[in-house]
Amino acid sequence: MAGEPQADCLFCKIVTGEVPADVVRDTATTLAFRDINPQAPTHVLVIPKVHHPDAASLAAAEPGVAADVLREAGEVAKVEGIDGSGYRIILNTGSGAGQTVFHAHAHVLGGRGFNWPPG
Ligand code: IMP
Repeated sequence: MAGEPQADCLFCKIVTGEVPADVVRDTATTLAFRDINPQAPTHVLVIPKVHHPDAASLAAAEPGVAADVLREAGEVAKVEGIDGSGYRIILNTGSGAGQTVFHAHAHVLGGRGFNWPPG
């Protein structure tokens, strides 16, 4: 059922503590932790604690929690000190766009320059 923890989901296991993570921020509805394979000096993932396969599904089902994820992305940028220089929030959606973990998450990347268009 949408929103319920999934036994085979890596990020659900991070929410429960079954899989360890380097946690940056923890709120009632979200968890922010460092990406295991960082693509920038700061690379943090912000996830909803509820399971939805991607950000659009989350926003459709639980718009308040989707807003929490975006707000937390901004808070992570502040506490990591990347808000002044600019940062990226990325929502890979679907395998063709590079999504590999099908539990909604926002990448927060900063601490280096970025190109446009993205690769
Ligand atoms: P996606 O490619 O947008 O789905 O992003 C998934 C991200 O999860 C990738 O950047 C991975 O490096 C990251 N990742 C995978 N496993 C772990 C983990 O156990 N801890 C933290 N990050 C992870």
